[in-house]
Amino acid sequence: MSKVRKPITPKPPRTREKVLVILNEQCKQCELCVVFCPKNVLCINESIYNRKGYHPVTTCDLEACVNCGFCERICPDMAIFLADRNAARKAYEAGAFEEGTVIPEFDKETQEEQ
Ligand code: SF4
Ligand code: SF4
Repeated sequence: MSKVRKPITPKPPRTREKVLVILNEQCKQCELCVVFCPKNVLCINESIYNRKGYHPVTTCDLEACVNCGFCERICPDMAIFLADRNAARKAYEAGAFEEGTVIPEFDKETQEEQ
């Protein structure tokens, strides 16, 4: 049996294929997505109200998201979902999303650039 140890190849940094999209105006603050997210990514944004008078969901630990899609499946109002990163980027840069649409990852990048 060979005693030569195999070199360890570090894995490249993981990039999420999809981005989280939150429709603030459709959220009814039921917190199902918050409770079911296995990585505790989501929380309620108590600093804002939507037109229905609810605090919409937001991300409290965006980097922990593993794109599992549980939030999308559990939300009864389709207020949170995963979208193809490139398609979402094009729409975001073109300003094609309706008011109240939040893509936390892109918003964070924009804030860091300023
Ligand atoms: S995709 Fe999964 S890990 Fe990411 S926020 Fe939704 S439930 Fe949490
Ligand atoms: S995004 Fe959906 S599941 Fe999450 S709090 Fe809002 S309505 Fe409830």
